[in-house]
Amino acid sequence: MTIYLDYNATAKVRPEAAAAIAEALAEGGNPSSVHAAGRAARARVEQARAQVARLVGATPAAVTFVSGGTEADALAIESALAAGCERIIVGATEHEAVAETAKASGALVEEWRVDEDGVADLVWLVRALDDKRRTLVCLMAANNETGVIQPVADAAAAVRAAGGWLHVDAVQAAGKVALNFETLGADTLAISAHKLGGPQGIGALVAGPRAMLSRRLHGGGQERGRRAGTENVPGIAGFGAAAKAALAELPALAAQSAFRDALAARVKAAGAVVVGEAAPRLPQTLSFATPGFASELQVMGLDLAGVMVSAGAACTSGKVKASRVIEAMGRPDLSPYAIRVSGGWASGEADWTACGDAWLAILERHRARAGAKAVA
Ligand code: PLP
Repeated sequence: MTIYLDYNATAKVRPEAAAAIAEALAEGGNPSSVHAAGRAARARVEQARAQVARLVGATPAAVTFVSGGTEADALAIESALAAGCERIIVGATEHEAVAETAKASGALVEEWRVDEDGVADLVWLVRALDDKRRTLVCLMAANNETGVIQPVADAAAAVRAAGGWLHVDAVQAAGKVALNFETLGADTLAISAHKLGGPQGIGALVAGPRAMLSRRLHGGGQERGRRAGTENVPGIAGFGAAAKAALAELPALAAQSAFRDALAARVKAAGAVVVGEAAPRLPQTLSFATPGFASELQVMGLDLAGVMVSAGAACTSGKVKASRVIEAMGRPDLSPYAIRVSGGWASGEADWTACGDAWLAILERHRARAGAKAVA
């Protein structure tokens, strides 16, 4: 039996999403066609748009479907620069989809520091916004490695007062904690289906009335001219179904914090440090570091025991590298030793307990080996 606790990398596809995808594939139809099949496909897309909008407390008209979180972040950054932003302030723990896109844009990029719990420093932001140039500020709602939740509403108030543009990467927060785009005050918000139980390769950028989005792909004028190309109807349908289920199950996911905290107590008793413990965090994410016990050894040992988790950050080659996020929190001493356990809609208490059992067993073996080496 295997145990999957790597939902922040990608969630297991929800049965509701798989059913909606299968239905859309079986029915076919191009949403731009005027005949019955086309109209049915259009209805699917618009139903999903309403479901996704409801998940984040936005109006359906605010939702533009794109290929995923990375493209949503890119569209937001591109749009803000086209709208006259001259500099970009990027949170020090942002995902590469934001950090690298900002860097590649050619605009002036400034890094916004976080404290030792990974929380962005609002005093620094207010000072940094005292500048004549229009500024794009990028602050994630929750961090992919640590689960640390950022003070996005407070940042939004400061960015608004300064006449800037706030982009929120909510890829990890959506479907895990309640979000309300209308009251948050952000200009744009990125979400991705595969982090909440939908399929990979589909996401959305939610944009408020002050945010004028760029025309990213030219062609047939789909998505109200913002992103041309025949819509990914099965993907969109799966996204909508997953968003609906995730919204209904937010209370159940919130209850997972008890399993997370029970695991945290066990690993701490064995000498691990919980990363961002003092900050508000996603209920199903636990990052912890055990000095001297390399991340990759832990991930591989757990995998052999049938438990799937991640190191702090895995690059696309599948190799483990030291966590940039934990380094930004001022703990480079911990970053090579951190692993992330992240549950989701199908995880139960038994999964978290089994993960703890397996981890303690491999830690014991590791310590026994290290002890034997020291003696020899
Ligand atoms: N932003 C965050 C915070 C993420 O965790 C991820 C995925 O890991 C992305 C953006 C990219 O999303 P996608 O894989 O849908 O392109």
